[in-house]
Amino acid sequence: MPIPDPPASQRRRTPAAPGARCCDASDARSASVCARCEAPICKNCRAVVEFRRVCANCREQVLQEIHAGEATPAQLNLAIGFGVVAAVTCGALWALLAAQTDREFGFAAVGVGYVAGACVFIASGRKRGRNLQWVALASAVLGLFVGKYFAFAHAAVTRVEEARGLSLFDPRLMRFFVAVFPEVLSPFDFVWVLLAFRGAWRIPEAKPVLTR
Ligand SMILES: [Zn+2]
Ligand SMILES: [Zn+2]
Repeated sequence: MPIPDPPASQRRRTPAAPGARCCDASDARSASVCARCEAPICKNCRAVVEFRRVCANCREQVLQEIHAGEATPAQLNLAIGFGVVAAVTCGALWALLAAQTDREFGFAAVGVGYVAGACVFIASGRKRGRNLQWVALASAVLGLFVGKYFAFAHAAVTRVEEARGLSLFDPRLMRFFVAVFPEVLSPFDFVWVLLAFRGAWRIPEAKPVLTR
């Protein structure tokens, strides 16, 4: 279990062992200790990782941990494939729900985002990192777009006289959707969409271990 770090105020008051020099250019005025291993550090040798001051050694280790958790190109491709499939499936289910019940269920967008993010994460072999975050986000965008489109297309072919009998995949419907897309979004949609993107973005986020 990671031990919580001492509060910053305490950390500053904790001096390094007397006489201990952190580096060749040790600077007494900025002497403090590493947030991870408590080795002495000063402004000349410390590094900042995730907003915390650590020694050069810990910086290397944290970067290695992050790197080891990243997806290989093969895992990334798998994640993209599953992300797209999950996104399209979720979007279609969302639209189906809307069509069956005649309600929008804007909050279901959040679910689409989370499922897209989770599928990307699991398909990559539970890897993390920026690349996967972008894949998760793109999958969420795709899922929401698909969901919105099919809900829109279904409503159009059942309610609009000129569109009656058109296939849901009709290019004319698609062009119409793209043209009116900004107008079919309600302010509430924006909130749900932002939450969906946030969920997708954070699932494969790298979490370096700074405490141990
Ligand atoms: Zn350290
Ligand atoms: Zn130093």
